[in-house]
Amino acid sequence: MVTAHVQPGVLDGAAFRADFPVFDRPHRTGRPLSFLDSAASSQKPRVVIDAVADAYAHHYANVHRGIYELSEDATHRFEAARDALARFIGAPSAREVVFVRNATEAINLVAYSWGRTNLHAGDLILATEMEHHANLVPWQQLAAATGARIEYVAITDDGHLDLDDLRARLARGPRLLAVTHVSNALGTINPIVEITRMAHEAGALVLLDAAQSVPHMPVDVAALDVDFAVLSGHKMFGPSGIGALWGRRDLLDAMPPFMTGGSMITRVTLDGADWNEVPWKFEAGTPAIAEAAGLAAAIDYLEGIGMAKVRAHERFLFDQAWAALSDMPGIRFLGPDDSDEHAGVISFMVDGVHPHDVATILDGEGVAVRAGHHCAQPVMLRYDLPATTRASFSVYNDLDDIVRLTDAIRVTQRTFGTA
Ligand code: PMP
Repeated sequence: MVTAHVQPGVLDGAAFRADFPVFDRPHRTGRPLSFLDSAASSQKPRVVIDAVADAYAHHYANVHRGIYELSEDATHRFEAARDALARFIGAPSAREVVFVRNATEAINLVAYSWGRTNLHAGDLILATEMEHHANLVPWQQLAAATGARIEYVAITDDGHLDLDDLRARLARGPRLLAVTHVSNALGTINPIVEITRMAHEAGALVLLDAAQSVPHMPVDVAALDVDFAVLSGHKMFGPSGIGALWGRRDLLDAMPPFMTGGSMITRVTLDGADWNEVPWKFEAGTPAIAEAAGLAAAIDYLEGIGMAKVRAHERFLFDQAWAALSDMPGIRFLGPDDSDEHAGVISFMVDGVHPHDVATILDGEGVAVRAGHHCAQPVMLRYDLPATTRASFSVYNDLDDIVRLTDAIRVTQRTFGTA
């Protein structure tokens, strides 16, 4: 049982809520919003909203084109956002950071551009059973287009990647392993250093889906030693419409463009074109200019807190929520029970109540959670579930959210007469 006054948590959630205008908006119940769906998309702090507005109000022109001051200013700010993101994720060079719309587009870029150049009939691609659809479907499409084969690393009953299964599949010589850092459906944090070492020893490249890790814990792509990493700005307090691919420079240099058109060229004649250097080779057309300003502000905000503190706070909330829910009858969980291996995402079932009904009743109590297959249908199949209810944490959550979550689940159980 948790009571909100027992422990302060690592960070002061209420103080953070004051930075996010959405929490000024009353829920229809008249109660404050308890927002437990940051894994789907985070809320935005005022500094990010203001940075986007400021970019449009005072610094807006198209980038990489103008000879006049305003365009140079816009270009400088756009490239400064790239520098900030490179620093934030430990990229050796900002030239290795490609702006795209989101993690999904980044994976499609690699699957198309690296994959169609390098994979041939019979080659093996490895993914895992815990991937988001964004890290499954592009590889399935690539396999269909090239004749490559695709295999999936199994998940254990307690929500870990099965490293013995990974070892066995790596022995078959895959060209690439596509793996998530944190599962959005299970909360599992995968041991990427170990996984990458195993994959590299077997001669496979590693594409890391960092969409659920970069917003919530320190991530250093160089230290993790992966070859590609992808993320979405909207999950890390930034705007929607901007995300990034980080890739090793030699790999990016050797890859053909994904999309073609303006900006990504150095010279065009009626007979053909020469490609720009990376990263611009992969940024055809006008990019997300104001969104980049918002992303830079989001990174600044996260760096101001410190990613180790963000992780410690969310871990504290996870531990408290897991303990509180474990005390309740009729609740089952997915994913590891050890918070060393579990991010601030709890996927659970309330016995006898469909997850959509749970989420609907929780909404009636002012508690916003996600219910569904979380774009990870193979995970649902693995555990023979139609869906789960998922609560996920951020810096603006605190123990009060957990009290409200557990109280609202009790209301659900009373409503359905299940406990
Ligand atoms: N991978 C993971 C693990 C995710 O959780 C998500 C978003 N739910 C994605 C990829 C895709 O992100 P986006 O929709 O922003 O492209």
